[in-house]
Amino acid sequence: SLLEDKVAIVTGAGSGIGKSTAVLFAKNGAKVVVTDINEEHGNAVVSTIKENEGEAIFVNADTSKPEDSERTVAEAIKAFGKLDIAVNNAGISGVVSPIGEYPIEEWNKVISVNLNGVFYGMRYQIPAMEKNGSGSIINVASILGQVGFENSGAYAAAKHGVVGLSKSAGIEYAKKGIRVNSAGPAFIETPLVKSSLSDEAYQNLANLHPMGRLGSSDECAELFLWLASDKASFATGAYYPIDGGYLAK
Ligand code: NAD
Repeated sequence: SLLEDKVAIVTGAGSGIGKSTAVLFAKNGAKVVVTDINEEHGNAVVSTIKENEGEAIFVNADTSKPEDSERTVAEAIKAFGKLDIAVNNAGISGVVSPIGEYPIEEWNKVISVNLNGVFYGMRYQIPAMEKNGSGSIINVASILGQVGFENSGAYAAAKHGVVGLSKSAGIEYAKKGIRVNSAGPAFIETPLVKSSLSDEAYQNLANLHPMGRLGSSDECAELFLWLASDKASFATGAYYPIDGGYLAK
């Protein structure tokens, strides 16, 4: 298996892209630390992994709190002895509003989870990986880490920040065996997207992608699997779109 004997943290793994990632990593031999603020969803993912003969634990942790990120790493080491991989995936979309009217509180919340959360994660994951002399970190940005999008200013700002932070970390740890990359999914089909949009709005969204459809969580997880594995041994400090051609336009 690609991730045999590896220990991986996946944040926000109770749903969507994080859930697909945790399940795929476990299927490929990784011992997975599933984190989320939703205990029920996180535990359900751990159960799914165990039913398939995988190994996983749940840690209730809010990525916007540094102490929770520190505790997540400590729990990983307590349960599995080391840390090899981290997917900093937890994120929120924030309210939809133009910047001239964007609620200050909401801005702070989006930056706190989507940008500060990724820094807090790496702040504690990297020292643990330095002890092994190796590691791979995948920070989940978005296509909105490369281009803007109307009424999503806070989200786009945070995701651009994640791309810059990941590049810097990639450079800093390149000679120390720790690879750091960011990934840029386009619009991904989650239960929420489908149920919250009219058929017409959904089709318009799909049409923004040259492939004429949204992506799936599983398609994102396949990219993260490669980045996490030793097959990606020359990949660091880079941004990887997974976007059905969205950014090519
Ligand atoms: P999702 O809402 O399905 O899942 C996110 C999970 O993160 C949830 O289980 C939620 O409880 C958890 N979470 C939220 N805040 C948290 C916090 N502070 N600490 C810990 N867990 C927290 O979302 P998703 O669509 O799977 O998105 C995952 C990541 O992918 C996010 O960073 C998102 O910005 C990014 N992304 C999503 C899309 C998309 O179209 N869905 C596109 C590009 C990027």
